[in-house]
Amino acid sequence: MKMTVISQNKTQFIDITSQIQAAVKTQGINSGLCFVFVPHTTAAVTINENADPAVPSDILNVLNTVIPRDLDYRHMEGNSAAHVKSSLVGASEVIAVKNGQLDLGTWQGVYFCEFDGPRTRHVNIKLIEE
Ligand code: ZN
Repeated sequence: MKMTVISQNKTQFIDITSQIQAAVKTQGINSGLCFVFVPHTTAAVTINENADPAVPSDILNVLNTVIPRDLDYRHMEGNSAAHVKSSLVGASEVIAVKNGQLDLGTWQGVYFCEFDGPRTRHVNIKLIEE
């Protein structure tokens, strides 16, 4: 199943936990695995704290500081920093499903990571029933 995510900024973390949970509910899976895949080369997906919004903001700030937009990149499209961030953070996550719920830790949420927005993006979700 394919989800749409619309980013508003050049770089942005978007909490997609509730949409993924809704997809799990729609499929009626009680127990199994939820595979989340981002089919883009300048975006990613990660799991981290979603209680304090300063956490995703700090992670994004570190990524933007460590991987600046204006290094001596060779890629002519001009978005090499976004490609690097995408590879470092990664294109997929696997989350266990237990009692029909994503089995995340208390403070965990799933973030779509935009590194070359604003754009309309997609996230693919594959559920495997146990
Ligand atoms: Zn590019």
